[in-house]
Amino acid sequence: MIIERAYIKSNREVANNIWEMHFEAPQIASEYSGSGQFINILVMNAWNHPLRRPMSIASVVKGNISIIYKIFGEVTQLLSEKKVGDEAELMGPLGNTFSNWKNGTYPILVGGGVGLAPILNLKNECDTHHVKYDIIIGARSGDEHFMDHEPEKNIILSTDDGTIGVKGTVMVPLEKMAKENENPYLFACGPEPMLEAVRNFALSNHIPAQLAVESYMGCGVGLCQGCVIHRQNGEIGRHSYHEKYSLVCLDGPIYEAKDIHFG
Ligand SMILES: Cc1cc2nc3c(=O)[nH]c(=O)nc-3n(C[C@H](O)[C@H](O)[C@H](O)COP(=O)(O)OP(=O)(O)OC[C@H]3O[C@@H](n4cnc5c(N)ncnc54)[C@H](O)[C@@H]3O)c2cc1C
Repeated sequence: MIIERAYIKSNREVANNIWEMHFEAPQIASEYSGSGQFINILVMNAWNHPLRRPMSIASVVKGNISIIYKIFGEVTQLLSEKKVGDEAELMGPLGNTFSNWKNGTYPILVGGGVGLAPILNLKNECDTHHVKYDIIIGARSGDEHFMDHEPEKNIILSTDDGTIGVKGTVMVPLEKMAKENENPYLFACGPEPMLEAVRNFALSNHIPAQLAVESYMGCGVGLCQGCVIHRQNGEIGRHSYHEKYSLVCLDGPIYEAKDIHFG
């Protein structure tokens, strides 16, 4: 894990309220080990924003790292106002990676809301390794999408209001695709209700699934204990709570669906 001052190489709005940013961060890029990992960004060094903001890595090309982010609050708003040539302090790469997508299973990638970055990163890794997959990206409305709905290429968009692609949540195409393909393995990132729906579907249909969990995070390095998630069947141990809870920053953010629950 490295702390590096990184130049911002681009920062643009790619869909309604969704931004893509590229950093020149050769040291962190050299330690990167795969999709699922994230960086922790100190957007400004000010008393009112002392905490870094975690963002999944969307791509690593040579020494450059990209993120895809949604403006949620003050710091992501400030991030969107950064200009090319500005700097930000990055900590990373942090966290574990998606696994088992090259092992002869059929990956079905599911991204929703802010959970696009690690899923698009995994899609690119599948392309690089000639692994066939389906990908489903969900949003509330068509203006939040920046990809095209291309069912012939197994790229499915869904919208809650039906303005693009399949009408409804990602679960509509997911349930169909999981039944149509042999040996499916689900990989999902998105808001908690979406992850919970994917988890419930996977467990009740005995389909393996990995979830990238984006819990609210303080320090990103295991000190504040703020990002905990429930371990499945966890019990409180004699000396600690570590059997009951897992720290997303250190143990995650990728979990097998069967190993966690959302409380
Ligand atoms: C491992 C990890 C990876 C992430 N990757 C991405 C990414 O690729 N793209 C992206 O857009 N965001 C990602 N996030 C979420 C992102 O870190 C938060 O949206 C960001 O910190 C919000 O900062 P803010 O100051 O703008 O908003 P704040 O003022 O801190 O928050 C505004 C509101 O947003 C909600 N919120 C903020 N963070 C979260 C969260 N993590 N989970 C649920 N609700 C939250 C809270 O309700 C809060 O009131 C990731 C989070 C984690 C833990």
